[in-house]
Amino acid sequence: MSHDPDCIFCKIIDGEIPSFKVFENEKTLAFMDINPVSPGHVLVIPKYHATDLMHIPTDWLKATVAMAQTVARAVDKTLNPQGINMLQSNGPAAGQSVFHLHVHVIPRAAGDKLRFNWGIVPGDMDAIGAIAERIRANVA
Ligand code: 5GP
Ligand code: ZN
Repeated sequence: MSHDPDCIFCKIIDGEIPSFKVFENEKTLAFMDINPVSPGHVLVIPKYHATDLMHIPTDWLKATVAMAQTVARAVDKTLNPQGINMLQSNGPAAGQSVFHLHVHVIPRAAGDKLRFNWGIVPGDMDAIGAIAERIRANVA
């Protein structure tokens, strides 16, 4: 299993850094983004350290995308957003800031001001934890 002890997301997988977990299985982990661009912003990662789409083995990518679908369905059921983006960035110019492949699941509202490369704004941890608990209850 590929692992990087200096990687922040590998540390989250190992439990070295705390996170609001939504769901996990053998190959993947879903947890709340702590700088949510909208309420219910979830990250899905493979439990395999690969920097990006070019480096991830296909079976791990498939497992990650399948988990993103499971999470998107739970987010949809929980928050009933008007839309959901599934977003994955490769390289700093594309807005990637953490170099362990991840998929964003982002609830959207019509007319919201969200744009690519949105910038980091720390979230309210109590609010993030509360939404995590609600989404968790809807993972099927
Ligand atoms: P990227 O910009 O690489 O597409 O997305 C990385 C995401 O990871 C950002 O949305 C950022 O808020 C999130 N992030 C960075 N550090 C942490 C952390 O320690 N915990 C959590 N839960 N999310 C993080
Ligand atoms: Zn990693």
